[in-house]
Amino acid sequence: MITIVGAGLGGLTLARVLAVHGIESVIHDADAAPHARHQGGMLDMHEESGQMALRAAGVFEEFRRHVLAGGDATRVLDRNATVLFDEEGNDARPEIDRGALRDLLLYSLPEGTVRWNSRVTGVRPVAGGHELTFADGRTETTELLVGADGAWSRVRALVSADQPVYSGLSFVEIRIPEAIAEHPRLAGLCGEGMLFALDDERGILAHRESNDEICAYVAVKQPADWAAAGVTREQLLGLFDDWHPDLRGIISESDGSLITRPIHALPVGHRWSRTPGVTLVGDAAHLMSPFAGEGANLAMQDGAELAQAIIAHPADVEAALSAYETAMFPRARAAAEESASNMVDLFRPHGARRLADMFLSYAAG
Ligand SMILES: Cc1cc2nc3c(=O)[nH]c(=O)nc-3n(C[C@H](O)[C@H](O)[C@H](O)COP(=O)(O)OP(=O)(O)OC[C@H]3O[C@@H](n4cnc5c(N)ncnc54)[C@H](O)[C@@H]3O)c2cc1C
Repeated sequence: MITIVGAGLGGLTLARVLAVHGIESVIHDADAAPHARHQGGMLDMHEESGQMALRAAGVFEEFRRHVLAGGDATRVLDRNATVLFDEEGNDARPEIDRGALRDLLLYSLPEGTVRWNSRVTGVRPVAGGHELTFADGRTETTELLVGADGAWSRVRALVSADQPVYSGLSFVEIRIPEAIAEHPRLAGLCGEGMLFALDDERGILAHRESNDEICAYVAVKQPADWAAAGVTREQLLGLFDDWHPDLRGIISESDGSLITRPIHALPVGHRWSRTPGVTLVGDAAHLMSPFAGEGANLAMQDGAELAQAIIAHPADVEAALSAYETAMFPRARAAAEESASNMVDLFRPHGARRLADMFLSYAAG
């Protein structure tokens, strides 16, 4: 039996591709239930990674039914709301609601694969594999352990001493429900897809979701403990007082609680020596800032490729893990480098101009 810790996109894809090939696995997840947490905003699925994984998982057609038509439109504004780049969606990078994507993978698994409320608190090597300790005191031993447990992975300690480091940038997630009906001006400003408003080390990154909600990340350079005492809308507006009123409206007209998401990353090129009986996928292996738009895509590619390596080496787990890691390390490094360099470029003066130029160069082929 293969034991996976974490029912995020990486762990679920791994279990699903294994299941398609008749290989059993079990996933332990700390969440109390499948919908215990809001899963966040939209994700665009890239052809060579997220879409490849969905095909390997046999759920590509189902995925297509959930794609938000036109959701991959892109618009770049500076702080005066001057439009520097505006492109309609062309389905090159189809967008799907993160919760719908997770459900699609989750409900494709054999019943009982995911054990909810099963938080791993400790891991250690023992004869014949690894022992997991759970929050309720249970222990379990497994021959093959996969850490798909995200940024603050417990399993990672078995292979590496590295920890995520704060990037200097924090996101505050805000939401505007019923955008077209109640906030038509903001709906028009954001367009059908993704809006990047950037200037002088600040940003508002907004996306229209399938339920007509606008989800926006307000990005600010602040110390790591900035949000410890909570952040208010007034405080956020104060940081954008020289921005166009329409852009400030995204903050002032938002509804509900503000969720702070400090952005952390593992060192670029994070890797480890082959360690028998254990490996990592997704953020556990290569947490990076979101500015290459690759984290979820890579987590799914990792899950699919690890499953394919296990299937290709039925009698040799170490050969499978080695083949998976040999391909994964360089692609994770390349994405982490891109993400780190984009973050620097976008959050210095004239970030909007630089991003618009980047999109224009892609559009020119
Ligand atoms: C603001 C923001 C925007 C982003 N935008 C994009 C984007 O546009 N495109 C993109 O590709 N990526 C994006 N990402 C990155 C993406 O969200 C992640 O890379 C992706 O979700 C990683 O998936 P994962 O399966 O590795 O981990 P996760 O999704 O974090 O899943 C980990 C799972 O492990 C469980 N878990 C954790 N600890 C334990 C434990 N001790 N015991 C048991 N279970 C445990 C958790 O409950 C969770 O279900 C963004 C990230 C952020 C923060």
